[in-house]
Amino acid sequence: MKIIDGKAISETIKKEIATEVAALIDAGKRAPHMAAIIVGHDGASETYVASKEKNCRLVGMTSSVYRYEENISEADLLAAVEFLNNDPDVDGFIVQLPLPKHIDENKVIAAIRPDKDIDGFHPCNMGKLVLGQDTFIPATPCGIMELLKRADVETAGKHCVVIGRSHIVGTPMALLMSRNSSHANATVTMCHSKTPDLKAMTTQADILIAAVGKPEMVKGDMVKEGAVIVDVGVHRIPDPTKASGFKLVGDVDFASVSPKCSAITPVPGGVGPMTIAALLMNTMKAYHIHTAK
Ligand code: NAP
Repeated sequence: MKIIDGKAISETIKKEIATEVAALIDAGKRAPHMAAIIVGHDGASETYVASKEKNCRLVGMTSSVYRYEENISEADLLAAVEFLNNDPDVDGFIVQLPLPKHIDENKVIAAIRPDKDIDGFHPCNMGKLVLGQDTFIPATPCGIMELLKRADVETAGKHCVVIGRSHIVGTPMALLMSRNSSHANATVTMCHSKTPDLKAMTTQADILIAAVGKPEMVKGDMVKEGAVIVDVGVHRIPDPTKASGFKLVGDVDFASVSPKCSAITPVPGGVGPMTIAALLMNTMKAYHIHTAK
């Protein structure tokens, strides 16, 4: 069984981006600039945005964070989005989700300029994804595709089962794996909470992508011998043996699944670091779009 080391692969990607950014700066050009809007004080969102900032700095990009209180009005948040849309120094930005209940997320996402939408959530970019056109691909599925490519996982002609159909992971993942392109061309089954017999589906998978949001739900008896497993889930569960009092686990029960599969992404160190790497890749893409104009 091979561990697909997302951390190491993401480090390679970051080095490649850092080299590219250094060359741009040496040539007298400005650095790419990623911005983030964060509303409120959700711990997971804070951690994610802090990691984006840190990684931007690591590769030599400019990073800025716009923080707003939980009670910001929808109109004021839309004005903040418009400000970043019009700032010529910002190549791309994300609005960290979830947003407070009184704000319409769809409205905010639709207000982002599609050529700055490095999360790839704008309906225009999602539409391009469906049509197989060049676009910003949501960071987690984008990172997983890059991970499978760089880890030399054969996808063409394989049966890929995706558990989950969210807009940010499951649905784009299923679309990307079924695309007529190199490093895709899989036959895809997408499962969700209304799938009557999940195990009957997952045991057919050559490649199983778990984006279900339930800690260690995928057990060894749900997996075909020799399958490749991509674990998207991230959960903190109590662990009194750790100084922090918790450990991170995925949607896959690593202990029972890893002996059966041919390759697996660990949690932590699998999909998570690739999500950040993909966001940096999307920022470079936005930079090239803007500087080519
Ligand atoms: P989500 O929006 O909660 O979607 C979960 C999906 O799983 C839904 O489509 C749901 O079906 C399906 N589901 C729930 N219970 C099920 C069951 N018993 N059997 C089959 N399907 C079931 O979650 P998400 O945003 O896609 O995220 C999924 C996981 O990935 C979470 O653990 C999240 O923390 C993690 N994540 C990690 C990263 C990373 O960078 N590593 C990034 C994003 C997300 P319905 O549609 O029918 O409700």
